Amino acid sequence: MLFRQRCSSATMPQPSCDSRSRARQRMLYGASTWTVLVTTASIVATVVAARPAWAQASPDTPAVTVRGQTYTPRSILARNMGSDEDQTTAFPPHKIIGNVYYVGTRTLSSFLITTAAGHILINSTYERNVRTIAKSVEQLGFKFSDVRILLGTHAHGDHQEGDALVKELTGAQVMAMREDVPALEAMRPNGRPHPIDRMLRDREEVSLGGTTLVAHLTPGHTRGCTTWTMKAAEGGKTFNVVFACSYRAPATVTPEIEAEFTRTFMMLRTLPCEVPLGDHPAQYNMAAKHARLTAGANPFVDPANCWAEAEIQEAMFRAQLDLQRKQAK
Ligand SMILES: [Zn+2]
Repeated sequence: MLFRQRCSSATMPQPSCDSRSRARQRMLYGASTWTVLVTTASIVATVVAARPAWAQASPDTPAVTVRGQTYTPRSILARNMGSDEDQTTAFPPHKIIGNVYYVGTRTLSSFLITTAAGHILINSTYERNVRTIAKSVEQLGFKFSDVRILLGTHAHGDHQEGDALVKELTGAQVMAMREDVPALEAMRPNGRPHPIDRMLRDREEVSLGGTTLVAHLTPGHTRGCTTWTMKAAEGGKTFNVVFACSYRAPATVTPEIEAEFTRTFMMLRTLPCEVPLGDHPAQYNMAAKHARLTAGANPFVDPANCWAEAEIQEAMFRAQLDLQRKQAK
C-alpha cells in the first residue's frame, strides 16, 4: 500500500518509483510469462513484443559534473532519499542557528523555528514520521503541542503528507503557496483531507512571536515549490537563513516547467543567504556539518555553498533539456 501510495503519484520522483516498480513488475512479468509459456509460444511472442516501456531499463542519463562531483538523475535521487530506513529514522535533533532547529529524519528534513508565542514547523514529511518528529521536538526541550503554524516546501508526500496529522495533534494553522494547493488537496493519507488554513502568494510573510518568514515562489519541481527565508540571530549577529525547496527537474521538462525553472534559478541568487538549508539534508551536507558542530564556528553558516545545490540542479536541468531536444530530432 505504501509502495503504491508513493509511486502511483504523478508528482513523486520518478526514478525511485521506476526502479522499485521495475523490480516488482519484473516479478509480475516473470510470473505471467510462465503462465503464457505453458500455453503457446506464439502468445509468448506477442506478450514480449507488447512489453511496455516502463518494463525496459532506461539509461541513467544525462550526467553532469559540478564542483568536481558527477551526478546523474538516479544518483541525485539516491542521495536525496537514501533507504526506507533513512527516510523514517530520526537524525539526532539539533540546533542549526538562533531559534532554528533540525527535527527531521536522516533524509527528509523537518525544521522547527521556536518563538515565545509558539513554534513554526516546516515540513511534516511522511505521515508515518510525524510522531518521530514530535519526539525530536520534545528531545530538544520544546512542546510539540506548541506548534502553531505548519509550513511546507512542496506538495510531495515525502515533505507534506503528514500535514493533517500535525494539525490534528497540535491544532496548527496550515499555510501553503497558492500554486501548490491543488496538489496538496489531492494528498489524502488514509482518506483524510489535507488541511489548508491560509493560502499564500509569492513573497507573502508569515510572522509569529517576533520571527518572520518570507515565502518565495520557486516553481519547477512543483507548481508552488516554496523557498522560505528568515533572519536568525546568534552571537550578536544576524544571519539570513534559506530553507530551499527541491529544484530537481522531472524526467520530462515541458515548456511550462522550463519557463518556471529559468525564472527560479535566476531569482534564487538574488536572495541574501548565509545559512543554506534544504528539504533533503544532503542538499546542504547536513551530516558533515553536524559532525563539526562542536568545533567552534557554526558549520551551518556556509555562504560559499548557498547556491551549490541550485547549481547542480540547474546543470542537470540544462543537460536534460539538451538531451530531450536531441532525442526529439
Ligand atoms: Zn519532491
